[in-house]
Amino acid sequence: MKAILFIGDGMADRPVAALGNRTPLEAARKPNMDEIARRGISGEMYTIAPGVPPGSDTAHLALLGYDPYEVYTGRGPFEAAGAGIDMRPGDIALRANYATVDDALVVKDRRAGRIQGTKPLTDAVGQIKLSGAQFIFRSTASHRAALVLRGTGLSYEVTDSDPHEIGKKVLQVKPLLRPSEDMELARAILAGGVRKYLGRRRGANKTTKLLNEFSRKSYEILKNHPLNRERVMKGLLPANYLLLRGVGIAPHLKPLREKFGITGACVAAAALVRGVCRMAGMTVIDVPGATGSVDTDLNAKREAVLQALKTNDLVVLHVKGFDEMSHDGNAPAKVQFIERVDAMLSSLIDAADFIALAIDHTTPVSVREHTGDPVPVAIAGPGVRADEVSVYSERAAAEGGLGRILGKELLPILVDLMGRSKKFGA
Ligand code: ZN
Ligand code: ZN
Repeated sequence: MKAILFIGDGMADRPVAALGNRTPLEAARKPNMDEIARRGISGEMYTIAPGVPPGSDTAHLALLGYDPYEVYTGRGPFEAAGAGIDMRPGDIALRANYATVDDALVVKDRRAGRIQGTKPLTDAVGQIKLSGAQFIFRSTASHRAALVLRGTGLSYEVTDSDPHEIGKKVLQVKPLLRPSEDMELARAILAGGVRKYLGRRRGANKTTKLLNEFSRKSYEILKNHPLNRERVMKGLLPANYLLLRGVGIAPHLKPLREKFGITGACVAAAALVRGVCRMAGMTVIDVPGATGSVDTDLNAKREAVLQALKTNDLVVLHVKGFDEMSHDGNAPAKVQFIERVDAMLSSLIDAADFIALAIDHTTPVSVREHTGDPVPVAIAGPGVRADEVSVYSERAAAEGGLGRILGKELLPILVDLMGRSKKFGA
């Protein structure tokens, strides 16, 4: 038995006055999503926990069956994995922004004028030698890059160098475990925990030194790089500093194959989602024309799903554009995009034994940020106890037979319906 798991990023919403107090899902004409709800079982889902607005990274970890509170320390490792870096458990990864600073290291632009084509700069920075660890540095999209530190005794318990504001000086990375807290912490963990705590302190200090060394050396290279001189001559902002943020340690994620005994593939453009799927041991498929935005090539993504179904038990189809429209506060565009995506689903509805509709978090157009509201979920396929719900929407789902589940419970439920779960007990 095979399954498609569709994930509409930020597709859930709250009632919108301009839509007659309907949510975009309620206002959209979407016969295929409604058909899945009609045939199947619906429910509400808190992706992380009630009242917790999920990030896309933690939400996708949960949707793949992991407990984000156990495996997540920061966004960096998933972004790096999404950039194609082979992460190893224990690697420390950060997101890096090419930024513009003045001679006093005050940030003038956090994105260096949204610079494109940073590869020559990234190659030059890659030549740096750090004392005490290896590193991998790679350009991702636009002004973004990923930095991975690899070595022993490293820690994610360090601060950002990104001041997150224009007009502020870049920050020195600092250990999060400050000496002033020593006594308190040491007392709290006295029973056998002191050595562990001191180890953490050593790791944080070592990582702090390495990141500050990386910042200093990369600045020396970038400020004199020919590409930046050329940019200045053309009146463009030089990309002369790398702001670091989103630090995290790469967890060991038990691959889906071991965890559930199924093979999985992922059709997604967003680097973060690709990274989560990759670290979960899934095959991540490149789809030309998939952009992670509303201009994405939906037909190409559908074809990729059909292709991947031939060799995988589970195919995750992630579509991002809803979230972008929500952050823009654009309800009509969100409705329109829901209708376009729904049309694409018509040829997927019967492509696998099961099809499940899920959403990683609610992003209300009125709030323009993720909120903790539950999202609707629907599963259709053989043997499913179909309920009375015949519409896929936030409010209709509350009446469904699944009741209310957590994000990390969705995949086990689906795997059980697929007949692939293991009995607990005799
Ligand atoms: Zn998201
Ligand atoms: Zn978002």
